[in-house]
Amino acid sequence: MPQVLGYAAQNKTTPLAPFRFERRLPEPDDVQLDILYCGVCHSDLHQARDEWGGSLFPMVPGHEIVGRVIAVGSDVRKFKEGDIAAVGVMVDSCRTCTNCRDGFEQYCEQGMVGTYSSKDRRHGGVTTQGGYAQSIVTTQDFVYRMPAQLDLAAAAPLLCAGITTYSPLREWGAGPGKKVGIVGLGGLGHMGLKFAHAFGAQTVLFTTSPGKTADGKRLGADEVVVSKNDDEMKKHANSFDVLLDCVSAPHDLNAYLGLLKRDGTLALVGLPPEDMPVSPFSMITNRRRFAGSMIGGLSETQQMLDFCGEHNIVCDVEQIRIDQINEAYERMLKNDVKYRFVIAMDSLTDTLGK
Ligand code: NAP
Ligand code: ZN
Ligand code: ZN
Repeated sequence: MPQVLGYAAQNKTTPLAPFRFERRLPEPDDVQLDILYCGVCHSDLHQARDEWGGSLFPMVPGHEIVGRVIAVGSDVRKFKEGDIAAVGVMVDSCRTCTNCRDGFEQYCEQGMVGTYSSKDRRHGGVTTQGGYAQSIVTTQDFVYRMPAQLDLAAAAPLLCAGITTYSPLREWGAGPGKKVGIVGLGGLGHMGLKFAHAFGAQTVLFTTSPGKTADGKRLGADEVVVSKNDDEMKKHANSFDVLLDCVSAPHDLNAYLGLLKRDGTLALVGLPPEDMPVSPFSMITNRRRFAGSMIGGLSETQQMLDFCGEHNIVCDVEQIRIDQINEAYERMLKNDVKYRFVIAMDSLTDTLGK
């Protein structure tokens, strides 16, 4: 099997470092991509440090992948050599259970196969490795078409940050006449703002960082609330239809539940590694709802990419070289991301050779 170069965490305490590993040769329904850009998601950091438990090492993270097709298997009709294509958070699922058949592959009853740190059931249980690498080989059904007009580096984070915010905002009806709050202005949050605004909702950003106020407005917020300020929070009590919580660390959920009007929904997409208490009284007041959401299914992800192509929506990114990845993780922990790091993958071969 061909060897490729990537960056991996050897265990939960080591920084990421160069790593050679094997990728399978393309099978009849596989597409092989040369990776051009890969976004840096906070989930990469959570998993590289095994904060959720169950991480598989060595781990090449990365699930916001845009690349050029360099080979296709004999049964592939969807792509040809030279196409620009993308891979997101999953690379397979059972495809036969009710959830898969309904287009919710991310909730596959057998478990979706993650792009990295996952066991690939169809390939002998080998551990999947992600996008901080030269190339990836994936079944064509889990590869997306990229709208031609989008800037590729800025589009890469759509594959996770984009779909993870698009899907719940659609599901809970963010749109004209609705008051929608986005909590946390990081990679997910900034896409939440762009989508809520594009869907026509009245959009409010909640941030712990007063310095992000001007950016919040530029990215689509009609109003920005610094969440540490109790008086500002109280002004919004019982008024929201939807709140999308994109925060990566434990925080007070009851403070946000109290902002929902009757039948309003707090949708959680952030995945802090610790439990967060929910008060029963926060829930029964106003018949509130507390929901969660994980990325989006295959067809909804393609729909989101096409929507972004039509409306020219991309992410605000800071391009980095692969050897800056450990520093990028540290900056992410300090809420110092404007608003997604994206690795330019030519830096891998430039610095380390083929
Ligand atoms: P990120 O870029 O690091 O952004 C997280 C933001 O949360 C920060 O910028 C900060 O915003 C806010 N924050 C951080 N610590 C906080 C604290 N102690 N209290 C309050 N606010 C705090 O992370 P991301 O990549 O957007 O990911 C966010 C979370 O979503 C992660 O936990 C990630 O694993 C999860 N995730 C879930 C899914 C899914 O399918 N559900 C998909 C992708 C990611 P402010 O500076 O504005 O306060
Ligand atoms: Zn992600
Ligand atoms: Zn399934």
